[in-house]
Amino acid sequence: MRYIVDCDTGIDDAVALVSLIRLLRGEPDSRLIGVTASYGNVTMDTSVRNSLAVLALFGASDVPVYPGVEHALGMRSFEVSPGVSFIHGRNGLGGQRIPDSSRKPEQMHAAEFMARAAKKYGQDLTIIATGAFTNLADALRLRPQMAQEVSRIVLMGTALAVPGSVNQWTEANVGQDPEAARQVLQSGANLLVVGRDVTTTTLLTRRQTQAWARSGTDRGAFLAGMLDWYIHTYEINFSGLPGCYISDPTAVVLAVHPELATLCLHRRLTALTGGPACGRTLVDVSYHQGTDPRTSVVLEIDNDKFMTLLLGALSAAVA
Ligand code: CA
Repeated sequence: MRYIVDCDTGIDDAVALVSLIRLLRGEPDSRLIGVTASYGNVTMDTSVRNSLAVLALFGASDVPVYPGVEHALGMRSFEVSPGVSFIHGRNGLGGQRIPDSSRKPEQMHAAEFMARAAKKYGQDLTIIATGAFTNLADALRLRPQMAQEVSRIVLMGTALAVPGSVNQWTEANVGQDPEAARQVLQSGANLLVVGRDVTTTTLLTRRQTQAWARSGTDRGAFLAGMLDWYIHTYEINFSGLPGCYISDPTAVVLAVHPELATLCLHRRLTALTGGPACGRTLVDVSYHQGTDPRTSVVLEIDNDKFMTLLLGALSAAVA
């Protein structure tokens, strides 16, 4: 299987990239063929920079990074919100400084790269999106048949039965561009939707980051420093939670190991694109076929196996 990760490289996107690099070391027929840059936690330009730097630090500087769109469909610009900047730090990596990669970004646009990869790899391609879904919507517009061509699109986004991360009903990646989210959710692609219904059941604590800090490597110091920053923001924003949720890495782990999903809803989703609940995701009741076997909204995962896989990958990555 080939993988593309479309991300707005803040803290949990960076952890997701590190997790995927390591998980794929154990899968000889799988590789990460490209990272595409979205926006949300950071600007698109910062996402490019951070992805290149993280890939280089973790031994994957051969992976190309493609610049994407800078803002939502129908918008002219994007700025990182103060709340998001607080959570991810101004550099998106919790203030941790890592060297720039010597590799330059690719010239090709993210959406074009996705569309070409869909044509080239077809059922051997999984796309994982952990930022705003605008690049994906653009790629589907460039090549509508890619919805059927690719093996799976894994989305980190949505909130059905739990509150969103932006407000009580809006999850951040959907909220950045609800129209793009609606288009992707309704594209007919084989979707694995990993939203807050499941990510709010995950927890990473300082006990785990301390082990990485003690590893004595630059990678360990980076990962621990970044996640300690993240956990600190959770201590302020969610008093009483003894750690942080692990949103984007959950999508990555499930992309490689979908068998960890123990309960899924097979209904087509949509996103509200206007009105007072703009950004809310819900079941599209106008989809009259009832169940939708090509949509799997993950509601529960095997948390023990998930944590074992994730912590194993991250611990190996910092060694
Ligand atoms: Ca993200």
